Amino acid sequence: MLVGDAAHGTALHIGQGASLAIEDVIVLVELLKRNLPVENTLNQFMQERFEWSRLIVENYDQLVRWELDAWKGNMQKEVNITDLVNETLAEMSRIIISKLSTL
Ligand SMILES: Cc1cc2nc3c(=O)[nH]c(=O)nc-3n(C[C@H](O)[C@H](O)[C@H](O)COP(=O)(O)OP(=O)(O)OC[C@H]3O[C@@H](n4cnc5c(N)ncnc54)[C@H](O)[C@@H]3O)c2cc1C
Repeated sequence: MLVGDAAHGTALHIGQGASLAIEDVIVLVELLKRNLPVENTLNQFMQERFEWSRLIVENYDQLVRWELDAWKGNMQKEVNITDLVNETLAEMSRIIISKLSTL
């Protein structure tokens, strides 16, 4: 089983990699405390972590690609970095609120 950068490395200047790694471990420890069969633990871990990690890794990878394009002078006119940042933060908020509502 992989956690942290081994599972979902992100661009370092995004400032999310350590957070993701720590969150992975907290979720894993909480699941292990339940003494479930290993397969259930791993499946629940994926359910808890996959979508959140995918959202951050994919969206911030896109931002880094755009930053590289801008640096090379190849930025497409239709690219809107602010929109992607706002959409990512809105989706992160939606996921957090939905998790809080289940507590
Ligand atoms: C310059 C820089 C700035 C960053 N800034 C931020 C930030 O502001 N905010 C943020 O959230 N994240 C930041 N990150 C990313 C963050 O550091 C990583 O996402 C985080 O450290 C990942 O933790 P990890 O435990 O998964 O991996 P790591 O911290 O890489 O730990 C893996 C450990 O495994 C060890 N290891 C490797 N192979 C073996 C082996 N075969 N046997 C035994 N041990 C082994 C390594 O030596 C290492 O100690 C930054 C990264 C860099 C490089």
